Amino acid sequence: MTVSTPTASPSRRHAAVLVAGGSGARFGLAVPKQYLPLAGMSVLRRALLPFADHPDIDPVVVVVSPRHQDTAGRAVARLPVRLLPLAGSERQDTVRNALEWLAAQPSVPDGVVVHDAARPLVTAALLDRVLASVGPEQGAIAAVPVRDTLKRGTGDPARIAATVHRSGLWQAQTPQAFPFGPLLAAHRALATTPVTDDAALAEQAGLPVALVEGDARNFKITHTEDLAMAEALLASPATGSIPCTGTGYDVHRLVPGDGMTLCGVPIRAPFRLSGHSDADVGLHALTDAILGAIADGDIGSHFPPSDPQWRGASSDRFLSHALERVGVYEGRLAHIDVTLVCERPKIGPHRQAMRERIAAITGLPLDRVSVKATTSERLGFTGREEGIAALASATVLVPA
Ligand code: MG
Repeated sequence: MTVSTPTASPSRRHAAVLVAGGSGARFGLAVPKQYLPLAGMSVLRRALLPFADHPDIDPVVVVVSPRHQDTAGRAVARLPVRLLPLAGSERQDTVRNALEWLAAQPSVPDGVVVHDAARPLVTAALLDRVLASVGPEQGAIAAVPVRDTLKRGTGDPARIAATVHRSGLWQAQTPQAFPFGPLLAAHRALATTPVTDDAALAEQAGLPVALVEGDARNFKITHTEDLAMAEALLASPATGSIPCTGTGYDVHRLVPGDGMTLCGVPIRAPFRLSGHSDADVGLHALTDAILGAIADGDIGSHFPPSDPQWRGASSDRFLSHALERVGVYEGRLAHIDVTLVCERPKIGPHRQAMRERIAAITGLPLDRVSVKATTSERLGFTGREEGIAALASATVLVPA
């Protein structure tokens, strides 16, 4: 993430607390919902990108259950965030534990913004609106006015007992931002008073809280159908988006060995590809194509070959990083096409597995992932089997 510091700005420093302690009981899955994939990256990772990328927010702490620390570590890999395995039994305990951790740091933030990891469609614009309204003596939360007529129900099966006037009613969302000291004091004083959001504690402690125009798309992933709806929103082109196409090209040398990874698929062979990382020439070309579509450098500028941490690295990490950059630009990957140029190995038997692997990494449907292969008629370095070349194109829909 690039983080720029505004010059001569009176802006206050905020910590962010991402609440990711949920157990996923409602989904009935072994993996909590915040770790499920959503259009190419986990729900949690998508939810925290606007915070990790914000110039006035530092640190970003992600509070998780100690039971899911490994999964969480993979979900936040390489982001400038701090993982805290301090989730409590209730959401309120989780937030309080994070605030106490922040209070014990050498430098205490001016403010804190709390966000549910299960709201992955939060935008940088919404975060900015909330931060613009929080101050030393006032909190601010994202909220949307209630649109539907509300009924109070009774009995089973339910019948209407009363109509509740919706005027003046709002649905609270997150982000919720507060001055740090007052929120910590409210959490400490009201630790045994059960509440469902931080604004409720601020209210009870007498801190004014502003309602900031939220976003209907910033809904909470609670049930499986919510995840499907979020996928659909991310997949449908935004009004006024522009399709941008990038291309990529890569070559790696063939040397004696015992196989290779091509387009993310392990292939047994009496040779291997030589390179600093796992030398997956297909995924390298594809990563460059995606970076090209958002005009954000190339694979070498994001992952310098001189950096020892990429020695032997699995190239799906490079691809995932490029997809994250697409997210930072609020773009959406629409289509990819990879061509491998080699005499051996024969690509045909592996083509479907390669498409499926790339679809799994990118979150694209299979019919938007193309893998093709050709030989070069025994001509040139590919024809002499000295190396494998790969070409790729990627189309990304970016906001106009
Ligand atoms: Mg390469």
